[in-house]
Amino acid sequence: MNKPVEMQNVQTMPLWIGGKHKQATSTRAGEIINPATGRVIGRVPFCNAADIDAAVQSAQRAFPAWRDSPPLRRARVLMRFRELLDQNKDQLAALITAEHGKTLADAGGSVQRGIEVVEFAMGIPHLVKGEHSEEVGTGVDTHSLRQPLGVCAGITPFNFPIMVPLWMFPVALACGNTFVLKPSEKVPSASMRMAELLKQAGLPDGVFNVVHGDKEAVDALLNHPGVKAISFVGSTPIAKYIYETASKSGKRVQALGGAKNHAVVLPDADTEFAADALMGAAYGSAGERCMSISAVVAVGSSADPLVAKLKEKASKLKIGPGDGKDMDMGPLITRAHRDKVAGYVDKGVAEGAKLVLDGRGLKVTEYQDGNFLGASLFDHVKTDMTIYKDEIFGPVLCVLRVDTLDDAIRMINANPYANGTAVFTRSGGAARKFEREIEVGMVGINVPIPVPIAFFSFGGWRNSLFGDQHVHGMEGVRFYTRGKVVTSRWPDANALPTGLNMPTLG
Ligand code: NAD
Repeated sequence: MNKPVEMQNVQTMPLWIGGKHKQATSTRAGEIINPATGRVIGRVPFCNAADIDAAVQSAQRAFPAWRDSPPLRRARVLMRFRELLDQNKDQLAALITAEHGKTLADAGGSVQRGIEVVEFAMGIPHLVKGEHSEEVGTGVDTHSLRQPLGVCAGITPFNFPIMVPLWMFPVALACGNTFVLKPSEKVPSASMRMAELLKQAGLPDGVFNVVHGDKEAVDALLNHPGVKAISFVGSTPIAKYIYETASKSGKRVQALGGAKNHAVVLPDADTEFAADALMGAAYGSAGERCMSISAVVAVGSSADPLVAKLKEKASKLKIGPGDGKDMDMGPLITRAHRDKVAGYVDKGVAEGAKLVLDGRGLKVTEYQDGNFLGASLFDHVKTDMTIYKDEIFGPVLCVLRVDTLDDAIRMINANPYANGTAVFTRSGGAARKFEREIEVGMVGINVPIPVPIAFFSFGGWRNSLFGDQHVHGMEGVRFYTRGKVVTSRWPDANALPTGLNMPTLG
């Protein structure tokens, strides 16, 4: 079979180890495919354990000097990195669009949200300050400090090639750790570019490393004794596996998983406003966001007018290549994923939900090999249907109808996922009740995608997060440091402690 021209000329990308490019020793590799054109645009090596070991050793060697550099000096590197990210924002967005498919405007927005984490981490001298109490006993003082862990690793998903890695490594580096990043093998180029920008910003060689690959590379990181902490973002089954495997070998782990995010629309909500907000929340990034709204819970009389508005707006969405003019939605990540999502639409119909808008027939002229799928909308979805139970991760919105706010809260609290949720209402009382009673990690009040700003922390509950600490914000600082408490006495000759009893300080 003849290979297309693009496939004959594509390069296999290197790793980033010790501040420079390094070829992988593994001969296994995968293809990087532009989801809009279906063309192979690069090859990515699938690292073996020896490649991973080389990266971890590089990070181990760089750790002592980086740990010992004052936090203010580390912050200044991040300040320069922040400027470089900002200057290269368009190029980074273009890299995201070429490999992920989302629109350029959406990609640019995700770079900006990532930059905000760098801005948070620039405050590290203040963020790692300890506490001091004098005279906790006679002549005794106590102070606390937080110290870095060593080599930390990040394993990231395909859907945010810049933002999700930036949830992790700016905070880890600011705290004095060194880092090995394993980006999704579907979208690896943005991480390589960030590595170059970090070097340009003055980061010492070896402090930040990038490896590539699939399960073999991830397992090598999970089992490497030199790795002290794992941050993971991806699907729930893999998150659970990462958490269990890495915890067993004594590593600190935060593993963020998949989602099924609900938006409750109360009868007093502004239907136009809610429907507009839900367009972006459900179909933005073709529904491939962990904070996408995939289930709308319409309470009482809100349902009929809301479904009509959703249909009207969703049928007008402009779908095409992410770098096309004024596009609302790009393609899905792979052909297999596109077909899986279309299969969910088939299943929803078979299980008796009402298909109000069918995106399966969409054809994008001139992009016949792209992974495009139109927006679909289901009404009268029930909680025992597959389209409700599974995370579809595509442009399919399900409307469920309930009688009361209590019914909506009960439904959401019974769902195994608990990443984000939102309520649309004009009632402060209803919003407050929702906020207090809902058992979900991130809550929006008339805000459809409540992704917390960088100085708060991001994370879900139940099957959406395995581990105790969320990413970035102060929880990120706590995750990437460990506490130490020092009790000190400077005795004179007459006041030495004596005896074998439990010491009391008074
Ligand atoms: P994924 O779980 O398939 O892959 C995530 C990472 O794990 C990748 O780097 C991949 O190489 C690696 N991986 C894949 N299979 C593995 C295996 N068997 N063993 C070890 N490692 C493996 O996820 P994805 O498809 O890249 O991303 C989409 C998923 O990520 C969705 O479920 C989405 O909800 C979730 N996500 C969650 C959040 C969050 O904050 N909770 C954010 C973004 C994405």
